Amino acid sequence: MEKTLVIAFDGLDYELIQEFGLESILQEEHGQIDNYSNTSSIKTSELFASFITGENYSKHGIKGLSIWTNSRVSKVEEVIGKMPYSQKTAELRKAIYESLSFLSAKKIRYDKRFLNSDTIFEEVENSRAMFVPGYNPSRYWQLGWDMSPLSYNISVEETIELWDTREYRHRKEMLFRELESEIIPARDFLMCHFHRPDIHQHMYGDKDTGNFDRNKLKKLYEETDRLAGEIKEKAESKGYERIIFMSDHGLPQGNEHNKNAFHSTKEPLFSSKPKITDFFSTLV
Ligand SMILES: [Zn+2]
Repeated sequence: MEKTLVIAFDGLDYELIQEFGLESILQEEHGQIDNYSNTSSIKTSELFASFITGENYSKHGIKGLSIWTNSRVSKVEEVIGKMPYSQKTAELRKAIYESLSFLSAKKIRYDKRFLNSDTIFEEVENSRAMFVPGYNPSRYWQLGWDMSPLSYNISVEETIELWDTREYRHRKEMLFRELESEIIPARDFLMCHFHRPDIHQHMYGDKDTGNFDRNKLKKLYEETDRLAGEIKEKAESKGYERIIFMSDHGLPQGNEHNKNAFHSTKEPLFSSKPKITDFFSTLV
């Protein structure tokens, strides 16, 4: 198999990528990914589980973003979650469940323990998953640190700084360490997930929550493009033959994710718009 690197930019919106004219991210071949057919919701853990297994949630078992460690709580939440405006009190309900010690309930983001299917990382021997949601997400993100500044009584800027310091810089450093290593040769399959675009857009890219700032958004997209350029250069000189940039969904609106997921490569991968489950068989 061709030595493949997948860089997953969480929440990077295909329309905005084109609008801002990003040149590194948009390689010769690019297009939208169908991230909505046969999905329970356009949420990160489920979508990446589908990407790495080639199955949808009913088979791989990961539904949505997170799971309650207490099954009674998860049943109650399943009912409440279907009610209108339930999202508005989600944080409050979470705080209540977690404060009731007899429930010992915690909400965590899914990882491979919850997967019913093999993934590309089991199929391909010389592979590595870096912070892949639904598989080996970063601990910091997995253990329920959420993105709302209100939860910690800090400003939007402080929230962004917190995430950039704890998460983004660490992931970038780890990826660069892998790509620059003189000991580790290029792998058959390497995948790294960057959560930054999603987090930032929840802070200032959402027209429906009244915090929309187009200049900041443009800066975020341009920074992401520069990162993509740097990654591409390092990966090519290391010997990666195929570099895929992609996202699981687009810009959040009303705290929801949209259908503008994308993929880009140098050589064509698909002849028509792929489903998020189509990558597995094409890559393996
Ligand atoms: Zn999001």
